[in-house]
Amino acid sequence: MQNNLLDTPIEYLKGVGPNRGTLLKKELGIFKYKDLLSLYPNRYIDRTRYYKINELISTNSEVQVIGKIVHIKIVEQKRGKRLVAIFTDGVSEMELVWFQGIKWVQESLKLNEPYVAFGKLNQYGKTFTMPHPELDLWEEHQQQIQKGLQPIYPSTEKLSQRISNKSMIKLMQQLIIETHTLFSDSIPPKLIETLNLLPLQHALIQIHFPKNAELLARAEFRLKFEELFYIQLQLLLKNINRKNRIKGHAFEKVGNYFTSFYENHLPFPLTGAQKRVIKEIRNDMGRPVQMNRLLQGDVGSGKTIVAFMSCLIALDNNYQTCIVAPTEILANQHYIGIQELASPLGLEVRLLTGSTKAAERRDLHKKLESGELHILIGTHALFEDKVKFKNLGLAIIDEQHRFGVEQRSKLWKKNIIPPHILVMTATPIPRTLAMSLYGDLDISIIDELPPGRKPIQTLHFFEGKRLRVWKFVKDEIQKGRQVYIVYPLIQESETLDYKNLMEGYEGISRDFPLPDYSVSIVHGQMTPAEKDIEMERFASGKTNIMIATTVIEVGVNVPNASVMIIESAERFGLSQLHQLRGRVGRGAEQSYCILMTGEKLSNDSKVRMETMCRTNDGFEISEVDLKLRGPGNLMGTQQSGVLALRIADLVKDQEILQIARHHAIQLLQEDPRLEIEQHQKLKQTIIELSKKSTIWNYIS
Ligand code: ADP
Ligand code: MG
Repeated sequence: MQNNLLDTPIEYLKGVGPNRGTLLKKELGIFKYKDLLSLYPNRYIDRTRYYKINELISTNSEVQVIGKIVHIKIVEQKRGKRLVAIFTDGVSEMELVWFQGIKWVQESLKLNEPYVAFGKLNQYGKTFTMPHPELDLWEEHQQQIQKGLQPIYPSTEKLSQRISNKSMIKLMQQLIIETHTLFSDSIPPKLIETLNLLPLQHALIQIHFPKNAELLARAEFRLKFEELFYIQLQLLLKNINRKNRIKGHAFEKVGNYFTSFYENHLPFPLTGAQKRVIKEIRNDMGRPVQMNRLLQGDVGSGKTIVAFMSCLIALDNNYQTCIVAPTEILANQHYIGIQELASPLGLEVRLLTGSTKAAERRDLHKKLESGELHILIGTHALFEDKVKFKNLGLAIIDEQHRFGVEQRSKLWKKNIIPPHILVMTATPIPRTLAMSLYGDLDISIIDELPPGRKPIQTLHFFEGKRLRVWKFVKDEIQKGRQVYIVYPLIQESETLDYKNLMEGYEGISRDFPLPDYSVSIVHGQMTPAEKDIEMERFASGKTNIMIATTVIEVGVNVPNASVMIIESAERFGLSQLHQLRGRVGRGAEQSYCILMTGEKLSNDSKVRMETMCRTNDGFEISEVDLKLRGPGNLMGTQQSGVLALRIADLVKDQEILQIARHHAIQLLQEDPRLEIEQHQKLKQTIIELSKKSTIWNYIS
């Protein structure tokens, strides 16, 4: 459809003109003919059905009724007046009502002529009224082209004042009349046949003006498939291109660091999943092509050691490495974990965050440039211009979706050959979403937890059961366990949070008095040093209850803590609840997560609580989260642009996505360079699409 006519500015369409044109641009982003063509209806109204008045029921949707106006009256009301027309189908009566334009309407109404009234209903007692109906004389109504399902187009308040849905339909009809001969398929004929797709021309006509529900369904399938298919093709091609073009350091050697660690210093046997993933990473980095890999693994699945061993491969080949985390606490946690693993190997590991002192920084910068520094761990402070590696070979990025692309590429602007990239995420992304977002990344998944962990039991209690929960906590502490109690954090109001937390703290100190119990508290208004001291008291068992805000989410690892109580759990998102739960279940004991909520829960909150109680599987949880929040929110605003799909829906159309991906892979296997004659239109379409660069450049 790369025809010039479709690129015609929208104001040239008959019925649009400059004023409406400006409005369409401003309100809906419609600049050209083709933009209007892909303004797909939100929903459809069945105008093939005519209701009898005694069949009417009160619903939200519009209905149409055939009848005659037998009486017109003006009713005075407190403010203004209304025009009421008594409308009868010969058996029963209803009222058509106008509040505006009364004079004009009154003059135009004809008594005892058959009309079709169309609109939404209100019900007062037994009487149905239809305010401001769309009213057509039966004779004229019959002559209108539009007989099947009637489209309802997306609009805005401003737009609907100037262009009604009825006018929009007229514009669309005009557009289709002018352009429909140009719609031609870019999807290869073979695929159209295999999938029994509606030809594009039919699909576009049927999506706007469906003859019946069956054709509508086929049109929807065709257009959704097409949208997802092209996204997949773009992503897959990008991956192929990257592998052909972007050079990388080939880490061919498996040297001393890796071997020595593997043979003498492994703190535990690796799980099968960890071994598999390390092998995938090693293979990737062994080739002279930049690795671009996403490592997904649930909380506690053991990503740290995988990251560390990947670093060793780079170090064995004389390259430096870095690990970037989104927060200071997380960076610190990585630093402690990596330091511990690295110490027997005599590696230089350093931490760089916003709090790093100037003198320490200077030393660090020097060692980084001379190559003495092996592993640099930190926050976005690593992206600063002053940070210069001698030879960065591997960059590991934790929780990637919190970093922007430009930031990341700063890391290796300075290098001629970019480092390998490993992105780690503990918030598993649903497979379907990963496929459409990260189709151009290779994905490794740790889908196995270290052995000996008992699944965490999750329970939901209403506030009224507080005493029972406290009794349970006391029993657990009696057995020598430790307990987290977490309060929500509302970012808008730190003081309010602090107040909540302090009230909680006082209450708990009362309910759990010394000397049997001792309580720690950690919150955002403490200095890092104060936090450390308090964490340390809890970690070493000096205190048995830790009260905290969500700072604990990514922070600590205390295997003896076996109970996680989340207060006002309804205020947390699913992935956050799951992350918090991951703080327990790290030791050999049975662990519990208790969700405390108020009695009144929204439907979404109920689903969140039920999901948490039902499963420990991060992937399943993220699927539910996706359904509740929609893909845009899940990924943060930055990436939501990618998901600005015109017709497909990543939640509802997962099956179509799978089909699209399957066929995209197959097509590129047959013809990776798109050289075959039958693929030329498709190739052209891809080129057009990539000019618009709707697909995000995720990594490089
Ligand atoms: P993640 O970063 O994926 O949430 P970590 O790397 O912090 O998980 O690992 C969680 C805990 O499990 C740590 O205490 C770690 O030492 C331990 N662990 C990791 N892998 C194994 C394993 N194969 N066997 C036993 N314990 C492991
Ligand atoms: Mg971790």
